[in-house]
Amino acid sequence: MSIEDILREEDAGVYKTLLESTRAIPWKIDWATLRFAYIGPQIEELLGWAPQSWQTVQDWADRMHPEDREWVFNFCVSQSQAGIDHEADYRALRKDGEFVWIRDVVHVVRNPDGTPNALIGFMFDISERKRTEERLLDMQRELEELSFKDGLTGVANRRRFDLVMEREWRQAQADRQPLSVVVLDIDYFKQYNDHYGHLEGDECLKRVAAALSGIVRGPRDLLCRFGGEEFVLLMPDADAATAMALGWRCLDLVDKALIPHAGAGDGKRLTLSAGVNTLVPAEGDDILPFIALADRRLYMAKERGRARVVAEGGVPA
Ligand code: GH3
Ligand code: MG
Ligand code: MG
Repeated sequence: MSIEDILREEDAGVYKTLLESTRAIPWKIDWATLRFAYIGPQIEELLGWAPQSWQTVQDWADRMHPEDREWVFNFCVSQSQAGIDHEADYRALRKDGEFVWIRDVVHVVRNPDGTPNALIGFMFDISERKRTEERLLDMQRELEELSFKDGLTGVANRRRFDLVMEREWRQAQADRQPLSVVVLDIDYFKQYNDHYGHLEGDECLKRVAAALSGIVRGPRDLLCRFGGEEFVLLMPDADAATAMALGWRCLDLVDKALIPHAGAGDGKRLTLSAGVNTLVPAEGDDILPFIALADRRLYMAKERGRARVVAEGGVPA
């Protein structure tokens, strides 16, 4: 053995040690046979399958999550055929039945004529990164939900209302269907706060919101806290008669909640007033005047003695 051979052998030993002591798992597949020529022993620690159990490309595909298998396999085969280096994230099956997120980074070794000769690559354990991603997504979803919720009462907030109203308005225009709103306001709420204190006032708002939640007929109805002690009910597809009936039902629900109000004008119970508006919005109609008229009718209900619904008359301010 020449000195060059000895050095080459030593080099090979160094490379092998390097390859097998990293956390990334090296492997090689011969393209002609689609069999593993090599896989790093680290694979056993990560997935539980011994290196010698990785024989063919089929073994690799079989040990993949069923939801990932088809696209990963097709993607890797087509990229390899085209001679393009690539990478894929997928869930690899562990011997104990669990799955581990893997990033496989693949280099295509090509023959002089350009056809693939072999694939060599590294598998990386990316489960920690995936867990972080999942947590971030969860937090993002939670934040988004919170940003559309009123912090005190838990019903939808004004932001949510504006968004849904825009959408339903366009839908009603397109379908030539009526759309209704009921604007609700607690009667003598300033006195409530004066009499019971602001914290009790907050509790009262929660009770009113809870009582009003019973009015929602389905996923398209939206109850929201419009601000202060004012709530709005948006009802796509509700005609004027339905909307007025539902307005009265709102008042009834709060009445049945039996919230005492010693500071109220005449009654001894907390009441609401409501203004209703219904429209089949035409092209060019605006949302603002539509709501302003409901608001105007609410004001009329207050003027006429409160604890009532006004669904007609009035001109927008
Ligand atoms: P009206 O019957 O005409 O509606 O009279 P009102 O006293 O209910 O109406 P006004 O607009 O004079 O007062 C509303 C009160 O609602 C004033 C404000 O302090 C109170 N308020 C608004 N937001 C909150 C809140 O988040 N918590 C509490 N406790 N009170 C609130
Ligand atoms: Mg008010
Ligand atoms: Mg009020």
